[in-house]
Formats: sequence, structure tokens, C-alpha cells
Amino acid sequence: MVGKFNVDIIKDDLVQFTQKLVRIPSVSGQEKEVAQTIFNELVEAGLTETWIDEIGNVISVIRAEGKGPDVMLNGHMDVVPAGRIEEWRHEPFGATIDENGIIYGRGTADMKGGLASLIFAMKLLKKNVDRGMKLPGNIIFSAVVFEEAAEMFGMEHLCQKTLPEKGLTYDVCFLAEPTNGHINLGHRGKVEMVIQTFGKTAHSSRPWQGINALEKMLPVLNQIFTEISPNLPSHPELGQCSITVTNCICRPGTMSIVPDECEISVDRRYLPSETLESIQSDFETLLEKLHQQDNSFDAKVRVRTYVEKSYTGLKKEVQKYHPVWLMEKDHPMVVATQEALSKVGLPAEIGYFTGGVDGAMTAGLLNIPTIGYSGADESLAHTYKEHTSIKTLLQDVEAYLAIIGNLFELDISQFVFE
Ligand SMILES: [Zn+2]
Repeated sequence: MVGKFNVDIIKDDLVQFTQKLVRIPSVSGQEKEVAQTIFNELVEAGLTETWIDEIGNVISVIRAEGKGPDVMLNGHMDVVPAGRIEEWRHEPFGATIDENGIIYGRGTADMKGGLASLIFAMKLLKKNVDRGMKLPGNIIFSAVVFEEAAEMFGMEHLCQKTLPEKGLTYDVCFLAEPTNGHINLGHRGKVEMVIQTFGKTAHSSRPWQGINALEKMLPVLNQIFTEISPNLPSHPELGQCSITVTNCICRPGTMSIVPDECEISVDRRYLPSETLESIQSDFETLLEKLHQQDNSFDAKVRVRTYVEKSYTGLKKEVQKYHPVWLMEKDHPMVVATQEALSKVGLPAEIGYFTGGVDGAMTAGLLNIPTIGYSGADESLAHTYKEHTSIKTLLQDVEAYLAIIGNLFELDISQFVFE
């Protein structure tokens, strides 16, 4: 028995279900089988209001009649690729368990373990509702596609289309992303900007007849690395703002021709004092300044966009960006979460994500209180060593039951597990 709940009863089922999810290599765009597996698990548990939306997200609702709050429990179904298989000590999609109860594989920490725990919390809540427990607010479970590769592609569809169409709203969103058992309250914004410089082609044996677009990029690179980067501000909670260049392409980029186009990708992490518009306008000012110094300098800046397609065939142009979000530490939902976790003996320190998560949509764009929580280790996400533990899976179920119990003022000692 972990803490106050008798969650050990569900241990074998929870572990097997987690293994089942990990064994399906659901890289972004290939979540179909995981979605179907989750859908079946929920429906078999009697969660009849469960469906898969147009983009392929799985949603399941336990309805309540009361004053609320309405709660969303969220996770993503996709994983990043395994990378070089020979670097793994365990099968990346094997979900093997060692003698210490550690489960290895891609997605164990980020975040099929967390998803499995949420699903089991939903099943247990449903069981208790069927036995007469009264919930004052709706619980909406959602497992979304495309968190890893596309910026909020699945989550945006859920929040802007699927839930509004059903008239569903929520007062708080919990993300079972790996947070090392911390209550994570935000992350820096991230955006990929594309800067292009233009020149004039010429035979490369006579470069003086052309304008080399790569040469025109040099002052831009110089400004980024020597002027902008060292002077970016830092934030007490979210950390250091940053800028770096992740790619550089010349076109035509073939033999014997001076390139007339050069394109760089700029990764910019930003703080709540900035917006996408302010970042773009800073770059525009810089390019204008460079043009004034050299009237053959011709350049453009924009946010990277591309078309993404979900496994259901739905296509959309997405921007490569995650807005910044930051919850107040003394927000009532944060305080209630801390209270709930300490009631079951779990530490409840405040933390922040280093990378981007779908809270960028709920908190960053929609201003809905959002909290990240799972015992899995964030630093293992996307690595060859990715793992979680049976203990973490059980603790996460317990933590989520405690959080919901506390928010809904339920007598958690009355929870039934069988
Ligand atoms: Zn994740």
C-alpha cells in the first residue's frame, strides 16, 4: 500500500497496460493503435462517454452535476523516435522490467507512464461514481496526438474545436508530463524564426559579378551571437532566455554558382515580458538597421510554419512555436494541489519545465490554470535511458486521486478499488 490508498490492488493491470502502450511505437503521426488501445480500455471500464475526435485525440468524460470545478486530465500519446537502437541497453519498445521494478523504453517517462496512471485514475473514479460517489464537477480525460513534433497540433484541435463543440469547459488542466514529482507551473516560450538573405547569382569563378547571400548573412549571425545572445534577460523562475542558430541552408547550393538565397533557423526561448510579435519586430528592426548600413542587404524574417497531418488524415498549417506560460505559486489550484499531495505523503515542491508542453495552449493561450505533475524523471525524456518505475506509476494514480479528492472535497478514505 502506497500512502493512504490501497492502489496496490491495481498494480498488475496498471503495469501490463503501461507495457502495452510502450510496445506500440507511436511516433507523432502514428498514434492510431495507441489511441484505439486507450479508447478500448476506457470503454471496457464502463466509461461510455468516450470518443476519438477528428484529429485522433481520445476524450473521455465523467459527467457531474454540481458547482464544479471541472477538471481536465491530459497527456499526449506520441513519442519521439528511439534514435540509434545500438545505444539502448534495453529494447526501446520492449517495456522490459528489471528486478527493481524499473520499466525501460521510449515513452515510459514521457509520457505513457503518466497517461496510464491518468487512465487508471479515471477508471477508479468511474467505479466509485457507479457506487454512489457524487462528483461536483466534470472530469475530462484527454490523450492528444502530436505534442512532440508539431506545436500544439492535437491540443489546439481539442481545445478550440472538440471540447467547444460538446459544450465542455474546464477550470483547471493537469498534465501528467514527467516533472520528477514537482508541481510544474510553466516554461519559457519557444519560437523558430526563419531569416532569409537574398543576393544575386553569378558563376562562382566570377563571384564579383554576383551578390553572395551567405556573405550577407554574416552580419546577422554576428549580431545574434555577439550582441543579442549575451544580453538576453533571465527570469527567477523560468531561467535564462536564449537564442541560437540551428540550421543554415544556401540556395541553389550547387556547384559553380554564387547562392542568391541563404536561410537560417533561429531557436529563440523567451520570457513572459515578450510576445511573438515583439520578437518578430525586434528582428525586423535589426534587419532594417543592417539595410541602412548596406543598401545591397536584402533580408526577411518570419515564424517557421509547416503543414502537419494527423493519422486520421487531418491537415493543418502550424507555427513552430510554444507560447510562454507561468502560473502563480499561490494560485488556489496550486495550493490545493500541494495540500492534496502532502496529505498522501508526497513531496510537493514547485518546479518548471525546461522544454515545451501542451500547457502552452491551455495556460499560455487560453489562460486556464494548468499544472504539470508526474513522478517520472523529466531529464530521462527523449534519452536512450528512458525509464520509469512501478512505484512511480502507482504513486501517480494515488497523487491524481488525492488531487481530485481534495478539489472536490471528497472523503478519499472511502475510495473503493475493487
Ligand atoms: Zn511529453
